[in-house]
Amino acid sequence: MTNLYLIGNWKQHGSRAAIQAFAQQWSFDANPRLRIAIAPPFPYLQTLGEELPDCELAAQDCSVYAQGAFTGEVSAEMVADLGCQFVLVGHSERRQYHDETDELIAKKLVAAQSAGVTPVLCVGEQQAAREAGEQEGVVRAQLRSALATIQPNLLIAYEPVWAIGTGLTATPDQANDMHAVIKQEVASLLGASHATPILYGGSVNADNADALFACPHVDGALVGGASLEAASFMAIAQSASYNLSH
Ligand code: PEP
Repeated sequence: MTNLYLIGNWKQHGSRAAIQAFAQQWSFDANPRLRIAIAPPFPYLQTLGEELPDCELAAQDCSVYAQGAFTGEVSAEMVADLGCQFVLVGHSERRQYHDETDELIAKKLVAAQSAGVTPVLCVGEQQAAREAGEQEGVVRAQLRSALATIQPNLLIAYEPVWAIGTGLTATPDQANDMHAVIKQEVASLLGASHATPILYGGSVNADNADALFACPHVDGALVGGASLEAASFMAIAQSASYNLSH
């Protein structure tokens, strides 16, 4: 294993006061092989970058366009300008509540890479697909459509939709098995010489992080609820750091 990635997704939560409180509590011995980033809502990117220089910055989304008459949109160039190293693309909440299609997601990946921001492509099956045993086909299809036109420089987050914000987590075996499938599909689409890190997301917390990070195909975590409090996010970071040194 080379690096682990830990990305907190604050979704539509946060305030300047909450960021200051988070930063005051944040105390973590940096591990050069652990990259920690937080994705706050757009208006707080700059404040977070100033208050918490120990963490990298991620955006939660980006436009397919670099600029133009697209009211309400934020481009990958703009988040790069604010210091973002990463941008989430195709989060299931964007797919579900904003009708983001595989075609749009493929364009956003290209837009992020063109702006020099590493996209974090989110994929994952709904509960019905898991119950029908169709999860592998769903995720392979999402990858085939998203990765058709991009360069190998990206991260992928496997986020089974039934595990996001529900308290249900994929078992370490379920996560590891799907990550192996994703690695194989990505190698066939982008070439085997590029190791694409695969993060797990879905109710990761301080109690289940150890077992997930111990999985050979799990290269990090995308964390929603448990990233909102410094204490729980630090505990997950400790777990990742421990895993890297053992
Ligand atoms: C997410 O938002 O990507 C996520 C995984 O959320 P949670 O950890 O709360 O399930």
